[in-house]
Parts: sequence; structure tokens; C-alpha cells
Amino acid sequence: MPIYLDNAASTPLDPEVFVVMASWLTGRVGNASSVQHAAGRAVATAVAHAREQVAALLHCTADEVVFTSCATEACNLAITGMLKPKLDRGEAVHIIAPLHEHPAVLEPVRQLARIGAAVTWVEPGASGVIDASHIEPHLRPETAMVACMAVNNETGTINDVATVRSVCRAHDVPLLVDASQAPGRLAMDVFDSDLTVVSSHKMHGPQGAAALAIRGQLTRAMIAPVLHGGGHEGGLRSGTLNGPAIVGMGEAAARAMAALPSEAPRQASLRDRLEHALLEIFPGSVVHGDTDQRVCGISMMSLATGSPGPVSQLVHAVALSHGSACSSVGGSRSHVLEAMGCAPHVAASAVRLSLGRLTSEDDVAAAIDAFAAISPRAD
Ligand code: PLP
Repeated sequence: MPIYLDNAASTPLDPEVFVVMASWLTGRVGNASSVQHAAGRAVATAVAHAREQVAALLHCTADEVVFTSCATEACNLAITGMLKPKLDRGEAVHIIAPLHEHPAVLEPVRQLARIGAAVTWVEPGASGVIDASHIEPHLRPETAMVACMAVNNETGTINDVATVRSVCRAHDVPLLVDASQAPGRLAMDVFDSDLTVVSSHKMHGPQGAAALAIRGQLTRAMIAPVLHGGGHEGGLRSGTLNGPAIVGMGEAAARAMAALPSEAPRQASLRDRLEHALLEIFPGSVVHGDTDQRVCGISMMSLATGSPGPVSQLVHAVALSHGSACSSVGGSRSHVLEAMGCAPHVAASAVRLSLGRLTSEDDVAAAIDAFAAISPRAD
């Protein structure tokens, strides 16, 4: 197996989380909605516990949490569910969104633009960090939503959500924070917002569960469902709840919070070691984004390898992202670096290295050796 340095794409399942999930995958059966019998009630109770755990992560109450299948779905529910009914009613809708958001936000916003929403796309600048000054000048009376992700999934830069939140509150504009990359890397209280999204598989939980918190000036009644059916999640997200994944997500959320004080400095030091080594192996390489305002485990670097060939050989030894990280169509140019004004030839040699709770010192040492082996100086 290659050394896994792609935790921003998906984190390996924490073995302790698996233990908590295991009996729900094999022994027990039941639908959380089938509360007329004990088997269904047992799943409903386990889901209720997980909802409390996720609410603790998000600093909200359990009844403000809506479970979905993934962060993409949660972002679509927040954006489309809130704004499409307004467009359908013929209301003017204006959205402010930074250009380097994840496609889970960019694409539903683009979809609404096709049916009449006005959108202000905000350029983040070379630092990649968004603050209130990027948002406030664009607010209009008809601004119906501001999006501002907590942590950029390619560069790891942390947006100044607190100042963005203040201007949004002062103007009564709902704020959507896609916080998918924050749990386990940062304390989450700074990202409290009207709409907050997290994803289980970005915090060592299983794939197949995520959550949208709806709170503050918003109520669930202001959001229309995107999926229609049996009325699960208070009518906002029909479809049988993925009990085992939600149980795992709850446990992963609790473990991410507990591990944060020791993990953040550990991962930051491993990341720095890796970065320093690569800057030495490939002189002239650059680290993208504000290096003082980014999370512990993510680094995006353009490596001065001489040609793109060597890095593509390396993916057999080290699992990393290059090109458009986190996109299903790998290999295309990074829209994040493009938004940050990075020259195309520099962006073309970008790689994203992302660490997680299961990344060891040995992993980092082995990755450095693998990079050293493709250095032009190794010939
Ligand atoms: N938002 C961010 C910031 C991400 O990094 C990702 C991951 O790819 C997503 C949203 C989408 O997450 P999911 O895979 O749960 O849909």
C-alpha cells in the first residue's frame, strides 16, 4: 500500500470507531423510523446519541442537526433548499461566494445562477484567506446567502469566519460555512453559523454520513427539502437513515474533539518536517496560501521537479492529490490556485499532501525518501 497522505480527500476509518459501528453492520438490524418494534427503536436510540455527539462538535442542539449522506448533499440542501423557493416565488436572490469554495458549494450556486440568481464571486487573493473585507462591500438588500468555507480543502488556509459572521449578522444575511475540513484540525466554535456542514469521512468516520446544522436566525421551515419521500429528518431529508454510518460519525466527532489538543501540534510538526524536506529536495518549490493561517495537516506545494513526470510516478509510493484535488475528474487544473491568481505553469506542478490522526512519523520519513528518490539530484 502507498503511504497515505491524502486525508483531505478521505480519512481512514479510526479502528475504535469501527468497533462502535461493527455490531450495527453485522449483528443488529433495523430502520430508525421503525419505532413500533424494539429493533427499530434500538437504531433510533443509537442515532439520537450520535446526533448529540455531532451537535457537541458543532456547538448546536441535537434538534438543529440534519443528517445527510455526504457534505455535498448537505451543501446542496442548504443552498438549493433555501434559495430555490425564493426564485420560484419570483424574489430577487443574490449570493456571495468565494471562487475557491469546494464544488459542493460552487456547483449548486452555479445551478441557481442558471435559473436567475445573481452571484458575486469573490477572489481570495494570493493568501487564500477570506475575511469580512472580501464580503461586506458586495452585500445588497437582496443578498440571500453568503458562503464562506472554514478551511480550504486544497491549501488548508483558514478563513476568518468570525468577521464574516459579524457582517452577515449585522446585515441579517444567512451564512453557510462548509466546515468539512475543520473537525480534528481546529476548535469548531469559531465556525458557528446559520448553516454549518461537516462530513464523517473527513474526520476518521465512515463514508456515507454528514450533517447540516440549521440554527441562529434560520429555522428548518425556511428550507425546502431537495429529496422528497417518507419525510425523515423532520421532512428535510427523506430516505432511510444510514444507521451504522451515523453511529460511526457520532463516535468520530467525539474522538476528533478529544484528540484535538494533542493532534494539532503533532500534525503541524509532521507537516512542517515534510514541507522543509521537500523545499530542500526541490529548490525553488513554493507553498501555497497563507502559511500562518492554515490547519495543521494540509499543505499544497508546487514542486520544482523539472517536469510533471516524476510526481505522477510517485503516486504508486505516496497517495497524494495533484491537479484538481477532491474533484471526481482528477488531473484538471486546480480552481483554487487559479482563484488565488497562481500562474498556470506553477499550478500545474501542485501537489496536496494531507495528514491525519493515523499518519505516523515513519509515514512522513518514508514519504520524504520517496520524494528524494525522484529528485533530479538522485540520478
Ligand atoms: N467540502 C469540502 C471542503 C471538502 O473538502 C469536501 C470533500 O471532498 C466536500 C465538501 C465534499 O464532501 P463529501 O465527500 O462528504 O460530499
